[in-house]
Amino acid sequence: MPQIYLDNQATTRCDPRVLKAMLPYFSEHYGNAASSSHRFGWTAEAAVELAREQVAHAIGANTNEIVFCSGATEANNLAIAGAAQAYQARGKHIVVAATEHLSVLDCASALEQQGFSLSVLPVLKSGAIDPRVLRDALREDTTLVSLMLANNEIGRVQDIAGLSALVHEFNPKIIFHSDAAQALGKIPVDVKTLGADLISLSAHKIYGPKGVGALWRRRRPRLVLQPGIVGGGHEWGLRSGTLPVPLLVGFGLAAQLATDKLSEENERLRNLSELLLRRLQDALPGVKLNGSLEHRLPGNLNLAIAGISADTLLSDLPELALSTGSACSSAAGKASHVLAAIVDSARARSSLRIGLGRFSTQQEVEEATGYIVRAVKALRA
Ligand code: PMP
Repeated sequence: MPQIYLDNQATTRCDPRVLKAMLPYFSEHYGNAASSSHRFGWTAEAAVELAREQVAHAIGANTNEIVFCSGATEANNLAIAGAAQAYQARGKHIVVAATEHLSVLDCASALEQQGFSLSVLPVLKSGAIDPRVLRDALREDTTLVSLMLANNEIGRVQDIAGLSALVHEFNPKIIFHSDAAQALGKIPVDVKTLGADLISLSAHKIYGPKGVGALWRRRRPRLVLQPGIVGGGHEWGLRSGTLPVPLLVGFGLAAQLATDKLSEENERLRNLSELLLRRLQDALPGVKLNGSLEHRLPGNLNLAIAGISADTLLSDLPELALSTGSACSSAAGKASHVLAAIVDSARARSSLRIGLGRFSTQQEVEEATGYIVRAVKALRA
């Protein structure tokens, strides 16, 4: 029996249009984009530059500000370690929030091991960062602040424009990084509005292929990063390695498709999520939303179901593909640090993450609700 896919924060299905566009770059157009002496290379390079334009356009950036890499994990590492190391003469204090993705938290902890000083901000129950808490954490030696635009577990959308303005008012030299992996294609991501210096993106969250992403880095005023991967000097020396041309073709088209239809898709997903929430709350007592309904990614729900172990519930729901937390935390066998930051452990253990996406239908939502209600009633009986 096919499962209903409700885990679009973990990853998304590659859009058939994206897959189709990628295929010729595996077969006929297999040149290396750095080969400058023949047509295979020129064709590959043209495809890479089109992808760069598409990704830049999706976030209101210039093409020479897009550094391609293997995904948001690498972009986060390049941004945080790269900026912290390049600017350590200015100071060695870094600020992140407790609900950041593990690729941010672990990178910041690794820097702490190397002698940097780290502040991890608590968040409010709604998942929001309190601007006063951020302001109090800033110091004379703060060089880098990294705060995500949209959270992968509770879908919390932060006021990055406001937070980056606060940081830059304190000291315009502090480098502000934002992980927008979950935000791209779901809510507007505009580099001019956000006021950040560095922004991480990933293709597989927007119906593109896995293993590719980008770091946007502002050019003016000039921002230097210490590269994590050196070699052939690709991507302005910031990320060496032969460019994965088919993946970039997919990333570019995925970014274009996701931003072209953003507001319609946003509304459709918001209606579907609210329908799902309403149906569950009507049928079952004790269903509570973790985080904020208002400041949320449109397809995301994170629900606590009172008295139920989410792990047990999942094992009783073979019809559904969903999760109790992020796939990255699950890979490390860790409990959710995001839920730990906003709810008590009993509520965290009873919480499910539901991620609707482009291919989710109302019929699937209705069927999924039926399966969940039946399984919860059986467990409670
Ligand atoms: N940041 C966030 C917010 C994410 O959700 C993810 C993917 N789970 C990443 C970073 C890592 O992205 P990638 O899988 O492209 O390395």
